[in-house]
Amino acid sequence: MDSQTLYSRLPSIDKLLLQPGLADALQRHGREAVLRALRQRLDMARRHIREHGSLPVWASDEAPLLNVVRHELAERQQLQMRPVFNLTGTVLHTNLGRAQLPEAAVAAVMQAMRAPVALEYDLDGAGRGHRDQAVSELLRELTGAEAACVVNNNAAAVLIMLSTMAAGREVIVSRGELVEIGGAFRMPDVMRQAGCRLVEVGATNRTHLRDYAEAIGPDTALLMKVHTSNYAIEGFTHSVSEAELARLAAARGVPLVTDLGSGALADMTRLGLPAEPMPQQMIAAGVNLVSFSGDKLLGGPQAGLIIGDAAWIARIQKHPLKRALRCDKMTLAALEATLRLYLEPENLPQALPTLRLLTRPQQAMQQQAERLCPALRPLLDEAFVVGSEPCLSQIGSGSLPVDRLPSWAITLSPRDGRGSTLDSLSRALRALPRPVIGRVQDGRLWLDLRCLEDEAGLMANLAQLPFAGPETHS
Ligand SMILES: *Cc1c(COP(=O)(O)O)cnc(C)c1O
Repeated sequence: MDSQTLYSRLPSIDKLLLQPGLADALQRHGREAVLRALRQRLDMARRHIREHGSLPVWASDEAPLLNVVRHELAERQQLQMRPVFNLTGTVLHTNLGRAQLPEAAVAAVMQAMRAPVALEYDLDGAGRGHRDQAVSELLRELTGAEAACVVNNNAAAVLIMLSTMAAGREVIVSRGELVEIGGAFRMPDVMRQAGCRLVEVGATNRTHLRDYAEAIGPDTALLMKVHTSNYAIEGFTHSVSEAELARLAAARGVPLVTDLGSGALADMTRLGLPAEPMPQQMIAAGVNLVSFSGDKLLGGPQAGLIIGDAAWIARIQKHPLKRALRCDKMTLAALEATLRLYLEPENLPQALPTLRLLTRPQQAMQQQAERLCPALRPLLDEAFVVGSEPCLSQIGSGSLPVDRLPSWAITLSPRDGRGSTLDSLSRALRALPRPVIGRVQDGRLWLDLRCLEDEAGLMANLAQLPFAGPETHS
């Protein structure tokens, strides 16, 4: 068939628009969106004719053509950023959005989105309030700090502390603490961005108090500690504690700041978790400013929290960068609600999903595996051995990088031993209505159950797996 004949077989837009099969889509998505989708599809069909000399299958008739258009229109309304099952075993997974927020925070955000809120409005004096005020009062109470402020994330917190306190001057940091947090956040680069001169002291594995003491000169603006949260140096090591450094800083009249990374407002060891430095300890030790993340162990929204001396916080609040880095009302609402949970420590491990997930006993995950495996076998048994085994979860986001938490996983091993079979399973799991994200290791797919709270939801979701084995996979 020549191209002209093929082109003439394509229905006209006007004709398609009158099809009863499109009435629902017109009603739902509106004429403009439907027209655009039809035009794009017809363009694709013409291109196909030009390149292949034939009609694409979906354009062979009006019904399949309308089907793809309807499907596309619906698809365009599906969020790309949609909920997944995090069975990676990493609780604070940066690529999966880190902390799951507590219900109190969810409710606070919804309210803040739906109605005007007292964001910068002092309800008592009816004057102008400050947007950081509520969070700042809570942080003062929880940490004993004189003052506090909030910015977009901890990277921003570090940037604004350095810009405010040390632009054009020297900042002394140990060589062992010049960390890269991932992506483009390396401490030396942030220093440069803030206009500071980095003075490295000590060696990668050992830094002593005298190293700092000898480096302090007339141009020193700041001593800085960085919590090496995403790696650990073991063996012949020495670093200087904040308390020792704070004494030196005070004696020499130089301020000291510490970037804690995660920072835990609750004592992790009391929950049976590995110790993590606490912002309130740093304040007690005499550090002038401490920064930490809102969405790591704190379990709240993405934010950077800075606590410490009122005079320094006041200068940060006035810095032009503060306006650029300030948080929006949704973040502040979520953060305030999250911090209020810390006022009731007994309820915290249950109310705060991050702590709830981190403190789940291994036995709870093992029992889940025992319930889930028999249900999974009929779905996957042809191609995979479905087993269950102990494994180790990670806290994630650079928190406590070395410590692992005993957990339990479902393991899926391809009967044909082939990596490609495993890949197609991972793909099929990611294509589910609620994608299931596991971890491939040693030729198997591991589904770590630590973060699985909605067991029924997972099963209903998995029941839609099209994957029955390599033979039936087309
Ligand atoms: C995670 C981390 C940061 C960055 O915090 P974000 O909130 O992700 O911007 C900075 N410093 C340290 C030590 C960290 O661990």
